[in-house]
Amino acid sequence: MLIACLKCKRHVDTGQAPAGSTVKCACGLSILVPEGPSTAGKMNCPACGAPVDPKAQKCQFCSTALATVICPGCFGAVFYGAKHCLHCGEALEGRVVIHGDETERKCPRCREEPLRVEVVAEAAIERCNRCEGLWVDRETVERLVKRHREDGAARLAAAGGQLPTAAAPLKATADGYLRCPVCNQLMWRQNFGKISGVLIDVCRAHGTWFDRDELHRVLEFVRSGGLERSARKTRDLLEAEVQQLQQRVSNLSARGHTLFPESQDRLQSGNLAVGIADWFLNVFLK
Ligand SMILES: [Zn+2]
Ligand SMILES: [Zn+2]
Ligand SMILES: [Zn+2]
Ligand SMILES: [Zn+2]
Ligand SMILES: [Zn+2]
Repeated sequence: MLIACLKCKRHVDTGQAPAGSTVKCACGLSILVPEGPSTAGKMNCPACGAPVDPKAQKCQFCSTALATVICPGCFGAVFYGAKHCLHCGEALEGRVVIHGDETERKCPRCREEPLRVEVVAEAAIERCNRCEGLWVDRETVERLVKRHREDGAARLAAAGGQLPTAAAPLKATADGYLRCPVCNQLMWRQNFGKISGVLIDVCRAHGTWFDRDELHRVLEFVRSGGLERSARKTRDLLEAEVQQLQQRVSNLSARGHTLFPESQDRLQSGNLAVGIADWFLNVFLK
């Protein structure tokens, strides 16, 4: 079978390599050999053949860990071999998924597990095979968010108004802080877009760590207009704050206070300094 390497676009012959194994492209990336078209899409455990829930991480019959791949449409994790993405419906058949080489960086959550390069929809991201978290560099995060924001706006316009909002945020776990896999500094934990409910770990200089399914949920939030909702909320809060300030100022001036107390203060403290200097001159230098 010939499959295209997403990194260098070369065609790679998988030869006799079985589905699920990897072959090396000349550019160095390891490419996961997909199942043939005849078996693709069947949601059966690759070890025992039992039917499995595509969301499951383990086969409930034989406990084999089920490999997931990342949907290039929505970055949701889907069971390897699925025909369509269960989140966004994107056709996955024949789409090449690359499980690339180890990087020198370690998973911030599992510590010893190396991150591996994975190319999804032209974005080179790094993934931990154990916890399925994703490390995405700063530029790529910005690019993905921008693209999904535009996509969402276009869909909204096409739908003539309302889109269903993103699914209710999962309960956030507030456990220990993680270290950036690049610079090893503690990362900031933030609620993406302030209101998404997805707690991500950010190194301002290098990138963002998304635990399993978090990138998918973030992009879903962005596509549903979440950033616009958040901006509106922030603007409303600011507006309320400004109104409060204006109210306070007009209260003060109603009670006869000056509108610019700082300049008055500065005048007084300036006079005071001159007064102290005079006093010093009088006491010590006479
Ligand atoms: Zn290649
Ligand atoms: Zn099984
Ligand atoms: Zn998808
Ligand atoms: Zn991990
Ligand atoms: Zn960093």
